[in-house]
Amino acid sequence: MSSKNKRDYYDVLGVEKDATENDIKLAYRRLARKYHPDLNKNDPKAKEKFIELQEGYEVLSDAEKRQNYDQYGFSGVDINMSDFFSGGIPGIDELLKSIFGGGGFGGIGDIFGGFGGRNRRQTQRRVVGQDIEDIIQINFTDAMFGLKKDIFIERYIPCSDCEGTGAQDPKSIKTCPECKGAGRMRKMTQSGFGTIIREVECYNCSGMGKIIGKKCKTCKGRKVILERKKIHIKIPPGVENGVHLKVQGAGHVPSVNAIPGDLYLGIKIKPNKRFIRRGNDLYTKVDIDIVSAIIGGKIKVPTLDSKNKKITEKELPVPPGTQSGTEFRIKNRGVSYLRGTGRGDQYIIANVIIPKKISKEQEQLLLKFRELNKT
Ligand SMILES: [Zn+2]
Ligand SMILES: [Zn+2]
Repeated sequence: MSSKNKRDYYDVLGVEKDATENDIKLAYRRLARKYHPDLNKNDPKAKEKFIELQEGYEVLSDAEKRQNYDQYGFSGVDINMSDFFSGGIPGIDELLKSIFGGGGFGGIGDIFGGFGGRNRRQTQRRVVGQDIEDIIQINFTDAMFGLKKDIFIERYIPCSDCEGTGAQDPKSIKTCPECKGAGRMRKMTQSGFGTIIREVECYNCSGMGKIIGKKCKTCKGRKVILERKKIHIKIPPGVENGVHLKVQGAGHVPSVNAIPGDLYLGIKIKPNKRFIRRGNDLYTKVDIDIVSAIIGGKIKVPTLDSKNKKITEKELPVPPGTQSGTEFRIKNRGVSYLRGTGRGDQYIIANVIIPKKISKEQEQLLLKFRELNKT
C-alpha cells in the first residue's frame, strides 16, 4: 500500500490525537475483534482492513514511532505490515493474549515472534540492567590450576513485596492525570521561526506515567531492593592477570521485565616470587653452588604439579661447566593453555653463587686449583 492511499493511523484506530496508551490499546482490542479475518469470512477486504489496523497499532503503541509519525507523517515510520503476516495471521485469541494477557510483555513485537516477524528486536524494547564490575584477587597457584569459588555480590532486583511497583498496594497505582500515562508532555515555545513543540518529561510523575499512592515500606518506593547474591564462579587454569570474567545475567535487574545486566569480574593475580610468567612459559631463577656449576651436580627446583594442584620440588641435573644465566627447559611445566589442551614450558635460570666467605682450608685448595689451572 503506498502512503498516498493510506488512512491516518488515528482515524484507523478511531482515537484522538492525544489518546493515551490505554485508549489506543482498548481501541485496538475492540477493532481487532471486529475486523479479524477469521470472524469476517465473507468480507473479501477483511484481511486488508485488519492489516491496516495492525499497522496503525504498531506505530501508535510505540512512543518513539508515534512521535515520528506525529512529526513527519508516514515518511517518519518505515513499516510494511504485509511482511509481518507472511506466515499467516494468528488467531484472534492468540493475538490478543499475546498483547494483553499474561507474560507481562507490552510490546507488539511479541505477537510476531512466532509468525515470521521481522522487527522483533526493534519493536520490543526491554530495559537492560546495568552491569556490575568487581575485582577478585587470587593466588598464583589458583591462576595456574584454576579455581571454583562462591563469591557474593550486591545487586538491585525488583522489590518482591510490591512486585517492583514501589506501591504499598499495587492496585492503588493510577495513571498520571497530567500526562495521561505517557510520562512525557509537549511543551510549546514561541520563537522567531514559529512554534516549537518539544517533548519533556512529565513534572507530575517524573516520566513514570503513573502515580503511586502509599509507598511500599520495604523498598520505600524505590521499586528495587539490594540483594546479596551468591555466585559460583569458575576461573579456568591459565587465566591471565587483568582479564575480566563475564557472568551473564548477574548484574542489576531494574524492573520485573528487564533483562538483567552482567557481572564483569576483574581477575587480579598476586605475584609469586618463584615464578615469572611470560605468555604461557614460566621462568624460575635457581641458585647453584659454585662446585656443582663447575663439576656438575643436582639442584631442586620448584615446579607446578597440576595433577595434585600444588607446587612441588623436582630434582634437576646440572651439567659440568654451567654458567650463570644458563637456561634449562622443563617441557610442559608452564601455564595451561586457556584454549585447547597442553601447557607451556618452564625455564630454570641458573644463578651461580660465588661464596662471600671461605675458610683457610678452602682458600688453600683454591690456590692449588689456580696452580693447576695455569698448566
Ligand atoms: Zn505524568
Ligand atoms: Zn517494594
